[in-house]
Amino acid sequence: AKRGGRDRVVRYRPELRSARETFTRISAGLRHAVERGELAVHYQPVVELPGARIVAVEALLRWTPADGPVPPDDFIPVAEETGLIVPIGAWILEQACRAAGTWHERFGTSITVNVSVRQLAEPHFADEVLAVLDRTGLPAAALVLEITESVFAGDADALPDALARLRGHGIRIAIDDFGTGYSSLSYLNQLPVDILKIDRSFVPSGPGSDGDHAFTRAVLQLGSSRSLPAIAEGIETAEQAEVLHALGCRLAQGYHFAKPGPASQLEAAFARLNPV
Ligand code: C2E
Ligand code: CA
Ligand code: CA
Ligand code: CA
Repeated sequence: AKRGGRDRVVRYRPELRSARETFTRISAGLRHAVERGELAVHYQPVVELPGARIVAVEALLRWTPADGPVPPDDFIPVAEETGLIVPIGAWILEQACRAAGTWHERFGTSITVNVSVRQLAEPHFADEVLAVLDRTGLPAAALVLEITESVFAGDADALPDALARLRGHGIRIAIDDFGTGYSSLSYLNQLPVDILKIDRSFVPSGPGSDGDHAFTRAVLQLGSSRSLPAIAEGIETAEQAEVLHALGCRLAQGYHFAKPGPASQLEAAFARLNPV
């Protein structure tokens, strides 16, 4: 009988306050994360099916302040809203390109870096990306920038100027979490991008019925008709990998192959999956 409306009112207010406090605490902490050395880059392989040879590597940001790690899904939105994603994004791009040079030389892999809409709005974004390639010596063809569908803001055939310019230099653009935004399949023919990443919510969990695979199948078919490679995200089992391969998917990423980890862990994955 005590679980009535009064209880809920009592619980509601602290929750509201705590959301604001969490935002404030995260943004205050993030402000000093770079100089305090609390940021790190983890790397997760993208593999080619069926053999699982590593062909690309995604850079994923990690933040570990003194009181323990904060998940990206908690701090990235705060970094975007406060604008801190601009300096932090520049930092991760430089780290990732620096690390990727030897992997590119040894294994021919590319490096993929997530880019927020907020970064693209910076007037010097393209210049800075080109300057990072210059400083690190990484070839443009070895860099992929991952953006989300929201970048197109309803205009599916227009890439923001900065991305169009970078693409002209040979940097490739991937659409992340494809299928979760508002771009419908019909946009696929026009999207001025080089790679699609099929969000893990669309990745078949098992053999299933044809209907379960309809979206993935359609993306793969449309993609292959304009030779737009697709990467299936979030592959956790051998069965998923088999189903995707049977559907014609050649590229995959997920815990089944390798989890994100520090550079040393990626080196171990290279030794296991790309023996010379
Ligand atoms: P995302 O770009 O879609 O990255 C893939 C996420 O899926 C990563 O989560 C990765 O650890 C996770 N993942 C990989 N394989 C599997 C799997 O088999 N199963 C499951 N359940 N998950 C898997 P993470 O590292 O926590 O990152 C979350 C999101 O935070 C990223 O999603 C991305 O949107 C954002 N993010 C991470 N690093 C950066 C960054 O440097 N810049 C920007 N702007 N955003 C980033
Ligand atoms: Ca991504
Ligand atoms: Ca994704
Ligand atoms: Ca995501």
